[in-house]
Amino acid sequence: MAKAMGIDVGSTTVKIAVIDENYKIVFKHIENTKPKIKEQVNGLIEKAKRECDSENIPIVSTGYGRKLVEQAKKQMTEITCHAKGIFHTLNHGGTLVDIGGQDSKVIVIDRYGRVLDFTMNDKCSAGTGRFLEHTAARMEIPVEKIGEIALNAKKELKISSTCTVFAESEIISLLAYGEEVDAILKGLHRGLVTRIVGMINSVAFTPPLMLSGGVAKNSAIKKMLEEETGYEIVMPPHPQIIGAYGAAIFALEG
Ligand code: ADP
Repeated sequence: MAKAMGIDVGSTTVKIAVIDENYKIVFKHIENTKPKIKEQVNGLIEKAKRECDSENIPIVSTGYGRKLVEQAKKQMTEITCHAKGIFHTLNHGGTLVDIGGQDSKVIVIDRYGRVLDFTMNDKCSAGTGRFLEHTAARMEIPVEKIGEIALNAKKELKISSTCTVFAESEIISLLAYGEEVDAILKGLHRGLVTRIVGMINSVAFTPPLMLSGGVAKNSAIKKMLEEETGYEIVMPPHPQIIGAYGAAIFALEG
């Protein structure tokens, strides 16, 4: 039976996780963030409550729009909720890389689930999903497909611009010179992974390496991150709702 709800209001997507008394997810929902976030969140919470047949469950919110969730009894940071969510999912600590639409974070978690160290990039889109999304849209390829295309590329082109806007112009000119889409995409993924490795190197890294966020669904990012770090990545079954799951656990534990 549904006992608690977590809602992660991200810049790109809104995620909801409802759990029972055994921390098991009984309802989950992910959809793109709309301009009128408050109305969207109200509608989603009502829908989730209806579907779970539970009117009065406690709610904790997280994510960049967490303060907009009036129904939440507590609003908690993404770092805290991601650490909680991944620890309860995998039952061990390590270093979590979370790559979302507009920010990325690296969180070191000890064997009791406590946050030991973290770093966050929310200033530059080049280390985030937006970097990939822009190019995918430009190339008219669904973002869900770009990872696989990059993985199958035989050639890799270096994208030297470190800024999303400049990278886009660079890519347009590469395409104009007849370079292959897959080689460009591979180079683009490499650029993002290089930035993430820089972040990993700036914290007190502890294995195993874990991956969450929407970009964790991109197979090329996982593979390249493994290549660049030399560590195999442990993936949670639902990487995009780890923050919402962590928030739901805080709601349950009161
Ligand atoms: P936020 O929490 O910051 O709103 P998310 O963690 O939901 O963001 O991640 C959104 C990003 O995830 C998008 O920018 C996109 O690049 C990526 N993404 C989402 N779904 C997929 C998918 N199926 N395959 C590859 N990438 C995806």
